[in-house]
Amino acid sequence: MSCDLDVAVVGAGLAGLAAAQELRRGGREVTVFEAADAPGGRMRTLREDGYVVDTGAEQISARGYRATWQLLRRAGLAPYDVHGIGRPLGVWRAGRPRNGAGEPVAVLTGAGLAPAARPSLARFLAWTGRHRAALDHDHPEDTPLGSATVRDLADRYHPDLYEHLLHPLSAAFFGWDPERSAAAPLAALLLAVGPVSAWRTYRGGMDLLTRRLADGLDVRYDAAVQHVADDGPHATLTVDGRPLTARAVLLAVPAPVAARLQPHPADDAAGYLHASTFRPMLKVSCALDRPLAPRGGGYLLLTPGCEGEDVLACVVADHVKCPDRAPAGRGLVSLLAAPGRIPELAAADDESVVRRTTTAAERYVPGLRGALVSARVHRWPHGMPELTPRALALRAAFLRRPARSVEYAGDWLAARPSSEGAARSGALAASRVLAHLAATARGGAGTATAARTGSANTARTAATGPDPAAAGPAATASVTAQEARA
Ligand SMILES: Cc1cc2nc3c(=O)[nH]c(=O)nc-3n(C[C@H](O)[C@H](O)[C@H](O)COP(=O)(O)OP(=O)(O)OC[C@H]3O[C@@H](n4cnc5c(N)ncnc54)[C@H](O)[C@@H]3O)c2cc1C
Repeated sequence: MSCDLDVAVVGAGLAGLAAAQELRRGGREVTVFEAADAPGGRMRTLREDGYVVDTGAEQISARGYRATWQLLRRAGLAPYDVHGIGRPLGVWRAGRPRNGAGEPVAVLTGAGLAPAARPSLARFLAWTGRHRAALDHDHPEDTPLGSATVRDLADRYHPDLYEHLLHPLSAAFFGWDPERSAAAPLAALLLAVGPVSAWRTYRGGMDLLTRRLADGLDVRYDAAVQHVADDGPHATLTVDGRPLTARAVLLAVPAPVAARLQPHPADDAAGYLHASTFRPMLKVSCALDRPLAPRGGGYLLLTPGCEGEDVLACVVADHVKCPDRAPAGRGLVSLLAAPGRIPELAAADDESVVRRTTTAAERYVPGLRGALVSARVHRWPHGMPELTPRALALRAAFLRRPARSVEYAGDWLAARPSSEGAARSGALAASRVLAHLAATARGGAGTATAARTGSANTARTAATGPDPAAAGPAATASVTAQEARA
């Protein structure tokens, strides 16, 4: 049967664009449908009055981001395009920042840990080092940590390790509840990305790579897909009320969005798809008339709940992270909300979100409210994959399923809560789509076998309306300085 489209990719985030480029390299005609008016998804950047606002992701690493660096090279981006942050990560303790978290020297300096907790940090690092090979970040479902949660892991050590490191880290970076998310992806990720000194950010904004990948692809913006179905040899999708057929559809959206768009997934995909829950995240970007930042020269300050903080998870000085984020002599500071507060803040109006978060931030960046030029609230209902032990237990079977005319990509699929997870999932998904289409062209009946082989090899290497998280900047809104101070 002839189809309207060869391959349709739903979502122009990193996973969808990486897959689309790979599919094109494999000789396919690819059409990307994106609900928002620009690429990037959770890596989107806004540019206003000289401020460069990263609405979601903040940084990558020189280590553990193999698929990302490969994409960068292929996209013709030079090492110059990726700025070495070169500033420490701090933890707030007893009224001041303690720098050095995430560096080996923390075993000696503590970096926010009490002296009695430092041997615990040394034991934790030694344990992860000894199990380096087994803590495979491509297969967190299969590590010595089994089904332990972050909390279970922390219980093996001095309580300070939980309160001043593991809890604040998992709250600030992933929006996680440590009692729900599995420890294995966290431990594997920390091991893979290395010390903070290896962390990098894209010059000119975190959307650099996605904008470059989108160039030259057929991307339809403001094109929300409402429905997707696997009709056997081909797939159907509804875009802005219009039905289309495609030889294959790749759903490169967060799992809960994929489950909503495709209400009847195959039985062998449904388990992991439905178990792949997400955590919301909320970030407030504050444009400042001067370059204020937390004391101590760090670019990111963790603000632990045990220090009496219940509104913020961390404070990021974006202009310290990379000077191009704010005009000369000005500043840009991002405030990430504490996971426990997000449901309440997400439902509140922008003005009160800005007022509450900036008031809390005064403790860490005195004078911030007085320096505020404007603020933007970024709500991410699907901020990060939650990666519960239940989801991990279902992942191996999901990866083994035969490829079909509807496939999936996204950080949730890689079980790696980072943009590298999105990049890896894009490569995996493209190989599955190519294997499925090759098998279909050979005669249909061979589809399952060929696709299964392709997926297994690659795996080892490596509600209604559009999603509000997906809408990216549409889900962000600006508040003037006057409104915020009110
Ligand atoms: C606040 C925050 C901070 C983060 N910090 C970091 C970090 O420092 N480092 C890091 O590596 N990672 C970080 N991440 C994670 C990283 O941003 C994601 O892992 C990655 O961007 C996910 O890419 P994706 O392509 O899987 O999904 P997305 O980026 O969510 O892309 C999905 C795309 O699908 C589109 N879409 C959704 N529904 C539809 C529809 N119905 N029709 C058409 N299009 C649709 C969306 O608009 C979106 O563009 C952070 C995330 C957040 C939210």
